[in-house]
Amino acid sequence: MTDSDCIFCQIVAGELPATRVAEDERTVAFMDISPATRGHTLVIPRTHVEDLAAIGPEDLAACAHMAQRVAARQREVLGADGVNLLNACGQAAWQTVFHFHIHVIPRYEGDPLRLPWTPAPGDPDEIRAAGEELAG
Ligand code: AMP
Ligand code: ZN
Repeated sequence: MTDSDCIFCQIVAGELPATRVAEDERTVAFMDISPATRGHTLVIPRTHVEDLAAIGPEDLAACAHMAQRVAARQREVLGADGVNLLNACGQAAWQTVFHFHIHVIPRYEGDPLRLPWTPAPGDPDEIRAAGEELAG
């Protein structure tokens, strides 16, 4: 249920300080200490689970619902013009804290944040092939 070495479990338990912004039975939302933009929030399940592959459907749904709530607050209260949701699953995908979390990143018209890739049109055949593989 909890991992004593996990910093996010320590935040859930109140053993490590965090700016908590919302919580419910299954989730806690708190501010990221290295925000990509003003208001960058993390949503986590109370129960320790490593990543997207391991999280159960109820906790995943609860985190998604909480992310939606937080995103609405970012728009209403912080004046965000948009929001990015981001999850890193695995080291190759930049995961650094191995307790599942959704980044809820408010976006502001003209803000300088650029995710680390340069969007460019892809090869349509390759896109279709990948889509067919995904669809199974
Ligand atoms: P990721 O790289 O997707 O695993 O994201 C981990 C996030 O946790 C990073 O954005 C960190 O800035 C954030 N983080 C690490 N330690 C803390 C902490 N003690 N309180 C709040 N956010 C943290
Ligand atoms: Zn944990």
